[in-house]
Amino acid sequence: MNIGFDLDSILIDTPPFIPSEIIDKFYKEKVDHKLWYKVPVKISGLEKTIRIVSHSPFLRRPIMKNINFLRSISSGNKDKYFIVSGRFNFLKKRTDDIIKRYNFNKIFHSMYFNYDDEQPHLFKDRVIKKINLDIFVDDDLQLLEYLTARNSKIKFFWLNNKIDKKLKENLFAIKHIARIFN
Ligand SMILES: [Mg+2]
Repeated sequence: MNIGFDLDSILIDTPPFIPSEIIDKFYKEKVDHKLWYKVPVKISGLEKTIRIVSHSPFLRRPIMKNINFLRSISSGNKDKYFIVSGRFNFLKKRTDDIIKRYNFNKIFHSMYFNYDDEQPHLFKDRVIKKINLDIFVDDDLQLLEYLTARNSKIKFFWLNNKIDKKLKENLFAIKHIARIFN
């Protein structure tokens, strides 16, 4: 099986004490009720600086229970693991540091980042089709709903801290990453 994971909030935590509603406000735009993210051309220099600082390793702690789980299942397993992350180009250096620091090259077959600054949901839709994923795990429910409607053969998991439940034919809410296997 080919199994893909988002990076932020799945393997790397968001800064502590900031509610997800605020992060959403920062990252998403309201355009005709459609899912639309703020891309770098629309992000001011100051906001870019804030976002780069907010991605510093001190504020973005690794989610070790998830990283360790992937480490343990990735050795001696026929499944292939991928990262598919919407991170923009201005975070490339921060992202390269994370990959090195946690040895992601040893866990993941390949990693895809949105360094051409596309809309993250369009980027992810394109990549998950290209690499033929069977499973994809993300924390952004709106984005997952977008992908779910367009990829009926892929099983999607919404990793969250509130509910464990089947939401749609191919969309499941899970509280623990290990639940992707049962
Ligand atoms: Mg995320």
